[in-house]
Amino acid sequence: MLNLYNTLSKSKDEFKSINPGKVGMYTCGPTVYGYLHIGNIRAYLLSDTVRRYLEYIGYEVRLIKNITDVGHLTDDDVAQGDSGEDKMLKAAEREKKTPEEIARFYEEYFRQTEKEMNIIPAHFFPRATAHIPQMIKIIEGLLEKGYAYEKNGNVFFDVTKFEDYGKLSGNTLENLKIGARIEEHPDKKNAWDFALWIKAPEQHLMKWESPWSIGYPGWHIECSAMSTEYLGNTIDIHTGGEDNIFPHQEAEIAQTECYTGQKFVNFWIHTRHLLVDGKKMSKSKGNLFTLEDIKEKGFSAMDLRLLFLSSHYRSQTNFSWDSLEQAHTNIQKINDFILNLEAVASRTNITNLEQINTNVFLEKFEAAMNDDLNTPLALAAVYEIITEVNKKIDNETLSSSDAKKILMLWKKINSVFGLILSGQAEIPEEIKLLVKQRQEARNGKDFKKSDDLRALIEKHGFILEDTKDGQKIRLAS
Ligand SMILES: [Zn+2]
Repeated sequence: MLNLYNTLSKSKDEFKSINPGKVGMYTCGPTVYGYLHIGNIRAYLLSDTVRRYLEYIGYEVRLIKNITDVGHLTDDDVAQGDSGEDKMLKAAEREKKTPEEIARFYEEYFRQTEKEMNIIPAHFFPRATAHIPQMIKIIEGLLEKGYAYEKNGNVFFDVTKFEDYGKLSGNTLENLKIGARIEEHPDKKNAWDFALWIKAPEQHLMKWESPWSIGYPGWHIECSAMSTEYLGNTIDIHTGGEDNIFPHQEAEIAQTECYTGQKFVNFWIHTRHLLVDGKKMSKSKGNLFTLEDIKEKGFSAMDLRLLFLSSHYRSQTNFSWDSLEQAHTNIQKINDFILNLEAVASRTNITNLEQINTNVFLEKFEAAMNDDLNTPLALAAVYEIITEVNKKIDNETLSSSDAKKILMLWKKINSVFGLILSGQAEIPEEIKLLVKQRQEARNGKDFKKSDDLRALIEKHGFILEDTKDGQKIRLAS
C-alpha cells in the first residue's frame, strides 16, 4: 500500500488511481529561456521517482511534462499580468537569436540534462506555443460562466468567484489580505486576479490572435490546457517544486475546476526548496549551480542523482560539495559491490553454503518507498545488504547462486533508483580488444607489453583490475 503526502490534504494519504492499474500524471516543466539549475533537476527527479515506483508496483503511468516556450514570466507579480520584463525576449536580445531559437536551444538543453540524469522521458512534452487554441477555448468558457472578465483586450480570472481559492497553498483571499503586496493593474477588479490573456504591446514578438486582442496567454493557463488535453479533466498526480504552488498551481486549480466543474488533481506532490551551503539559491549569491558546474568539479550526474535520493524529497535538502563527495563515495561502494557480485556469480556453484534470504531486504525497501517514497531509508536497506554480503564475499561463503539472486534483487531495486553504475557501462569494442590483447601478453609473460596496454586502456578513461577471476574493466568514475 503506497502512501503519498498530498499537499492538498496536508496528510499522507493512501494512493488510489482513478482508473484501476493506470495513472495520469502531470509535471510542470521548464521555462526554456535559461539553463536548469540543480534545484530544478531535483524537482524533475522527484517526478521520475514517483513514476518509477508506480511502475515498479505495477501501474501503467502516462506522464506529461510541458515546455513553457511562451515568453513570460515567472516572477509572481509578473505572472499575475501586471508588469515586468519578458524573459524570453530578453534572452533573445542578449543572445541575438529569435525567441523561437532561444526556446528550442534551452529545450534541447533540458532534454539532454534529463537524459544525463537518467530521468525517463515523459510520454509527451507539449509546448505551450502549440496549444494556444486550447487555451483560448478555456478562457472563452470561463468568460461564459462568469469566472473571468475582459477589459481593454486583457482577460483576468476573478478569484473572488472561486470559493476554494487558496486550498492548495493556504493563500486564501482572507490570508492574502494580510501583509501581501502586489502591483496593481489598472484593468483588474481585485489585486489577486490573475491574467488569462494579455494584450501584447506593439513591439512584442510572440503574439497570437484571439477574440479579445492580439496578445499572449497568461502563464498559468497553459498547464490547464495541456493537462486536460492529454490526461482528461481529473488527473491522479501533479508534481512540481514547492515554488510552483503559489500563484501558479493555485491558479491552475481555480481556472481548471471552474471550467470543467470537476476536481482537477487528486494528489499534489512537491519537493521542498534546495539549499546550497545552507543558503537559498540565487544568481546574486553565485550558487545557482548547473549540471556542468557539477561535472567541472569532477563529479558525475549519477553522484548528483544519488545525493538527491539520499535525502527525502520533502526535507529541505542542503547541497554542499562535501555531501556530493559522500554521494560519490557511496556510488563507488555500490559499484564495487556489483562488480564483486558479478565475479562470484560467474564462478562454479558451491551448493553447501547457507542461503541468503533476499526477501527481507526487498520488504525493507518496499516498506520505505511505500511510506511517502522514503528513498534515504530505502537506500539504507541497500547499504545493509552490501555490508552483510561483503562479509560473505570476504570469507568466501557466498554461493554463486546467491550472488545471482542478489544481482537480480539489485536490478529490481535499481529500476526505481535509476542509477547507472560505471561498472555496467557499455565497454566499447576497441577497449575490449585491448583487454584481450593484454590478456594474451600476460599469458605470454610479456609484461612490458601488458603494462603498455594497461596504460593505453586507462588513457581511454577505463580502469583495469587484475583479480583472481581475471581482468576486470570498468569506466573510471
Ligand atoms: Zn504548471
